[in-house]
Amino acid sequence: MNDFARLKYLTSQMHLEAAEDIGCPTLSARKQDSVNVSSAVLPNGGRIKLLKTLLSSVCERDCYYCPFRSERNYRRVSFQPEDFAALYMGMHRAGMVEGVFLSSGLGGSGVQTQDRLLATAEILRRKHKYRGYLHLKIMPGAERDQVEQAMLLADRVSINLETPGEERLRSLAPLKRFRSELLSPLRWIHEIRQEKAPHRAWKGTWPSSTTQFVVGGAGESDLELLALTSKLTAQAGLARAYFSAFSPVPGTPFENHSPTPPAREHRLYQASFLLRDYGFGLEELPFEGQGDLPLDEDPKLAWAIRNLAHQPVEVNTASRRDLLRVPGFGPKGVSIILRARRGGKLTSLSHLTKLGLRPGRAKPFILLNGRAPARQLRLF
Ligand code: SF4
Repeated sequence: MNDFARLKYLTSQMHLEAAEDIGCPTLSARKQDSVNVSSAVLPNGGRIKLLKTLLSSVCERDCYYCPFRSERNYRRVSFQPEDFAALYMGMHRAGMVEGVFLSSGLGGSGVQTQDRLLATAEILRRKHKYRGYLHLKIMPGAERDQVEQAMLLADRVSINLETPGEERLRSLAPLKRFRSELLSPLRWIHEIRQEKAPHRAWKGTWPSSTTQFVVGGAGESDLELLALTSKLTAQAGLARAYFSAFSPVPGTPFENHSPTPPAREHRLYQASFLLRDYGFGLEELPFEGQGDLPLDEDPKLAWAIRNLAHQPVEVNTASRRDLLRVPGFGPKGVSIILRARRGGKLTSLSHLTKLGLRPGRAKPFILLNGRAPARQLRLF
């Protein structure tokens, strides 16, 4: 196999297991034909073609949900740092990809694997003068100096917590250590950002940091996931968490477990944005008895039905915080409203529409100059 064929094989392993398993032959056939490139949103809001890949699919750990676990029998693929960097740069110059997300299976210790990822990043930045987007994964067990090295080279760094705690992790990935291997590096990233000036970082600013959870793999609740995400946002400068719905992979101990409904992933994203960007507190989210969010209910709409239906928000005088609570109004839309009302009163839905807002969802929960824009409140 040449390098490009190996990369095709590797990315197909990363992206197709779940597709095949949920019976999606069209997706499988289409993706097998090419290197898997995702469309990704950057921290600055821009969109790029992102190559998400591993440097190696060799792994000595045995996480119960993972296609790359050591006990699974299939062909493994690895790249040397030089070879991967040259291959990636060829694709980048040809316009096939604009950025790369680089992770790896653990072939040897976390320290050794992190060294290979760092070597690849160094070659990209120093030898090939690569100035594009680079997201580097921090390996479980990496040392603090290696985390700092990664921060000097990357635009974003991340480490997957997988579950919201030590006990949950034992049932999913028994060889990983939650505190020492996963949580500590996330906290080091924040400490380094606080303690050291970023002038040595490749762009002169420290990279953002993220994490990922396997949703529904360890019996955890939404409340556990969101409480930890919220805490890490406040205390460790976490930019965001990714929620990946568990999907069983053949040849793993979890192959007969039920997949997590994608709707759960979606509700977790909605709720995490309410906590991060809309000023909501955990106690305001509509958790049910077991600590999960209802799948059939948008959490912001649920809150508004309970709290705003009989106490609508006056668009012309409400604070930013109160406007953000209205369904259909996001941070950008609220900034537009605040700017526009300096120039005069907003008196009708068409005013809002002309400003570029889509006020349909907001209608039952607002007043415009003291008047409800809709006579009939159709909440459901
Ligand atoms: S360490 Fe990573 S690659 Fe290895 S089995 Fe666990 S999740 Fe998969």
